[in-house]
Amino acid sequence: MTTLIINIQELLQVRETSVSKVSGAEMAILPTIKNAFLLIKDNLIADFGEMKNLPEIKADKVIDATGKVVLPSWCDSHTHIVYAGNREQEFVDRINGLSYEEIANRGGGILNSAKKLNETSEDEIYEQSKVRLEEVMRLGTGAVEIKSGYGLTVEGELKMLRVIQKLASNYPITIKATFLGAHAFPSHYKENKNGYIDEIITKMLPEIAQNKLADYVDVFCETGYFSVEETEKIMQAGIQHGLVPKIHVNQFNSIGGIQAGIKFKALSVDHLEVMNPEDIEALKNTETMPVALPSCSYFLSIPYTPAREMITAGLPIALATDFNPGSTPSGNMNFVVATACIKMKMTPEEAINAATLNGAYAMGVSATNGSITKGKKANLILTKPISSYYQIPYAFGSNLIESVFVEGEILE
Ligand SMILES: [Zn+2]
Repeated sequence: MTTLIINIQELLQVRETSVSKVSGAEMAILPTIKNAFLLIKDNLIADFGEMKNLPEIKADKVIDATGKVVLPSWCDSHTHIVYAGNREQEFVDRINGLSYEEIANRGGGILNSAKKLNETSEDEIYEQSKVRLEEVMRLGTGAVEIKSGYGLTVEGELKMLRVIQKLASNYPITIKATFLGAHAFPSHYKENKNGYIDEIITKMLPEIAQNKLADYVDVFCETGYFSVEETEKIMQAGIQHGLVPKIHVNQFNSIGGIQAGIKFKALSVDHLEVMNPEDIEALKNTETMPVALPSCSYFLSIPYTPAREMITAGLPIALATDFNPGSTPSGNMNFVVATACIKMKMTPEEAINAATLNGAYAMGVSATNGSITKGKKANLILTKPISSYYQIPYAFGSNLIESVFVEGEILE
């Protein structure tokens, strides 16, 4: 099956040779081709170029993209879309003045989601989660990382990871799984934190590794959650079981989690709303991708990741949604890109690089996703007619997507 898209007003994120990530000043450069064609063959990007160089091709299907933009699908490297129920009541509690920490202390927050998850059957969790996955696919996400972390028991965590595995085998988009048993301490371990860490290391990790249920290991390294020392212990155990670390750090406090992540070669350090100069310095010349989650800052009214300072310092940035029931009940990467421009003062070029190429890096899929490169997956967004790609962040809240391609097929 071949599909040829012709007369593309502008084809974005064109990389002749595969680039794994862009950093610092490179982030401002978004390579494009105006008046372009793109050929899809066997689910992959087979060829592209200027219309004037279009070779004679007999394609099974031809799509005229006059006035429209084509770009690689979003790569959302940080989500928690497998969960049960929702936390609307806490949303209203926060409007009425309670803080995220106060809600957590009242049995809300992550523990509330964990209670719901453990009370819900695996099939029901799958049914609820697939609705969210289908929604983000329609919003242009072509690769997504999904975390566990609402089980907080051996059975609950395995149940979540099995649901992620089932989504990955039933849906054509690229899915990576992360084990986040260290998301919070369950209430029955409140007075015995080492007991829970032991359970993670001696019971959960071996079972997960044996059944190949996760690619990454994650920890919520934060005051009141997991200390730097505990985070290091869990990352180390994860590595011993073949999992690469990706960690939650610097959301509310800078406690040395970034440095710990770098020490254990974390693929990404995520959140980063609170960044000291030492944190920025530590990330320079490392292979660890800083990931910003602007929808979370928006929803919780907390600071945004200081993207400008970080880019000026030469760092890369990836953008992700953090889709989860408590702090970001939205998986809309279009909103993330717009918010990065509006609130973090990233340029459209920087934000699109951060949400495609660098997002792919942050979830370990840059060989197959994140750019228009021959041989990569034909996971693409075709916009409605727009005046330029600046419309994507500018017209925030509008759905500018006409169709989404997943492995070369238009999503119906
Ligand atoms: Zn998260």
